[in-house]
Parts: sequence; structure tokens; C-alpha cells
Amino acid sequence: MNHQELNNHVLNDFSPVSVSMLDTRMIKAMNPVLRQAVARAHLDLEARTESYLTQRHLKVSCCKGCFSCCMAWVVVGLAEAEYLREQLEAHQPQVLARLEAEGPKRLARIAQQKHRPDFPTRYFLEANPCPLLTPEGACSVHPQRPLTCRGVLTNLPAHYCAPGVVPALRGKERAAYQGQLKPWHGPEHYLNVPWQYSERLAQKLWSTEKQLRGFTVVGELASLIYLLGQPYFHKALAEGPAAVRQVLSKRKFLGGEFGFWVG
Ligand code: SF4
Repeated sequence: MNHQELNNHVLNDFSPVSVSMLDTRMIKAMNPVLRQAVARAHLDLEARTESYLTQRHLKVSCCKGCFSCCMAWVVVGLAEAEYLREQLEAHQPQVLARLEAEGPKRLARIAQQKHRPDFPTRYFLEANPCPLLTPEGACSVHPQRPLTCRGVLTNLPAHYCAPGVVPALRGKERAAYQGQLKPWHGPEHYLNVPWQYSERLAQKLWSTEKQLRGFTVVGELASLIYLLGQPYFHKALAEGPAAVRQVLSKRKFLGGEFGFWVG
């Protein structure tokens, strides 16, 4: 089986994993069916990624303490944000406090810069760490981390992931970097199949949420978790998608290429 056939094979196999495999200990307050759907999507992505890596004999270089990709602009759906908020409120008040301080800053950036096509690239180059990172550089919500984070993997040296490193490569260093890129890499040196898995499972989760809640909200990770702690946002969620659009639009958080999306 060549690389393309293998990709097609693994990407087409999207039957769900067994619900009995889920860790239900962390399932407490949000809509239990939705919570289970989030946990299942995470488990599903882990299983598929592991299977893919085994088939391709790929060993990822990602490990605890390596957090360059945690400076990227991470986008999640409402269910995954609720899932994380629930975890932080129940078990990690200090991390939640850090996020509560960061949320308004990110919302201000969205309001001002959501239309800029280069916004995520510029943001990454600023090297702003995710507020869910510990001071030691570990993900404080690693077992519950979003699909987007799980889908970013590489088997190439981790120093290529640091903000600005790849664009700055010149001469022999650039040639050495490009010489390591294979058909299973892209964008850049990241593994493309796990990323495609994460995107497909995120879209599937948004569909499930639309069936259960009637709509979803998609936006930046820290600011969406922050919004879930705001009474005006809670009230709008209870009233429905039109009310959510209204409160987000009023504050200039809605729309643009990198603002919130409700649908
Ligand atoms: S949620 Fe965890 S893995 Fe994702 S960006 Fe934040 S610290 Fe990194």
C-alpha cells in the first residue's frame, strides 16, 4: 500500500469507538451525552493516530515539556470549551484564574484584529503561551486537551516547532530541513494525517453538538472558556443562537477570519 492509499484507507475508516472504553469519572455537569461525545472524539483520535503511527513506523518527537505548538492560536467548539471549563472549575482553580486573566486580552485582540489574514501567524511569532500551560511547560489539562492540540504532531526535531525557526532557516540549514520532509508531512514538518483526523473529528463533534444543543460556537480556546464564565454569555446560550450572535457581535467578537462563529 503506498502512502496515498494508506492515507485514504485510514481517513475513510471513521466508525466510532466503543463508548465502554471511555473514562466516565470526569463526566459530571455538562450535558452528559455531549460530554461523552467529547470524550469519545478524544479517544477516537488517540486510537486512530496511534494506529497510523504504528503502520507508518513513525515515532513522534512531541513530549512533556515541549510546548512550542502551545503558542499557536487554538480553535475549539463550545462542547470542548465546556468540557475544559468543567475540569478547571472542579479541579484546577489556579489554572482557571490564569485563564480568566488571559481571556479578556485575547478577546480584545479578536475585536481589533479578527479581519487580518496574517493574524494567527503574527500571534504565533509573538510566542504567547497558552494559559493552560504550567510554569514547567506541561499541559495542565493534558487528558482533556482539545482535538486541535492532539492533532499537531511531528517526528522531526522539536526545535523546528519554535516560533520563527522554520521561516528563519537559510542555506544549508534550510536544505537540511527540506531534505527531511516526506510526503506525510505538511503543513511544514507536521504530520498531515493526524491533523486531518483531528479536523474531521472536530467537525463531527460540532455536528453532534448542533443536534443536541441546536447550535455550536467555534472560537479561540482560552477566550471561549473565559466567555463560559460570563453571565451575559450564559444567558445568551440559554436563549439560543440569535442571542449568542447578538452578544458576540455587540462586543466585536463575532465574524471576520478569526472571530467567533455561531451556527
Ligand atoms: S490546551 Fe494544553 S496542549 Fe493545548 S495549547 Fe493549551 S497547553 Fe497546549
